[in-house]
Amino acid sequence: TTFSELKLDPILLNSLEQNQYHTPTAIQLKTIPLILAGHDVMGSAQTGTGKTAAFVLPLLHKLLTTSKRDEQGTTRVLILTPTRELAQQVFTSFEKYSQGTDIKGALAYGGASIGPQIKAMKDAQVVVATPGRLLDHIIKGSIKLSSVDSLVFDEADRMLDMGFIDEIKRILRHVPSDRQTLLFSATFDDSVFKLSKKLLKDPKLVEV
Ligand code: AMP
Repeated sequence: TTFSELKLDPILLNSLEQNQYHTPTAIQLKTIPLILAGHDVMGSAQTGTGKTAAFVLPLLHKLLTTSKRDEQGTTRVLILTPTRELAQQVFTSFEKYSQGTDIKGALAYGGASIGPQIKAMKDAQVVVATPGRLLDHIIKGSIKLSSVDSLVFDEADRMLDMGFIDEIKRILRHVPSDRQTLLFSATFDDSVFKLSKKLLKDPKLVEV
């Protein structure tokens, strides 16, 4: 199976070609069609399996093919990660795959000055953030989450290990309940399952 058989937008197929990605990885093959079909997905995958593209590509496809007015500065995709390093990695992937589109992104993590992040938020449709700093932005009013249609938890097990459950609950109050939710985790223990029950509706389980 090729990426074009997955029916991704030609702009994305082009950027995949430029990045020399020829065949989808196992997690991409299983996950991309489910996300395009609108399902909530719970994916177990380690780093290195291509899991970032497995959610970034279909979410970009959806942004390219469905429009909401006042697009600039309307956050439609929110990706949460436990650490600054992972946020940076995911953001780098987002920038790579969104090459050639006019989709804009912003990155928000703690320990860096908030001013430039606020500026980037103003015209971003995709936001990659760590939970604590995202809450700072919510409180400051520099981000509005009322138009979010896709919410992603990357490395959910680490988010719980790091004690982000209260932050997650507070963030959820600002995100529409009518949304698509994707959760990725290296492990699925009871605490991750418990969290997934709160977050996901009728999720499809993907394991690689
Ligand atoms: P990830 O598991 O998302 O951290 O990705 C691991 C690495 O695999 C990254 O360096 C990606 O750029 C690369 N990658 C992801 N998908 C593919 C693919 N289909 N073909 C080749 N490389 C890929």
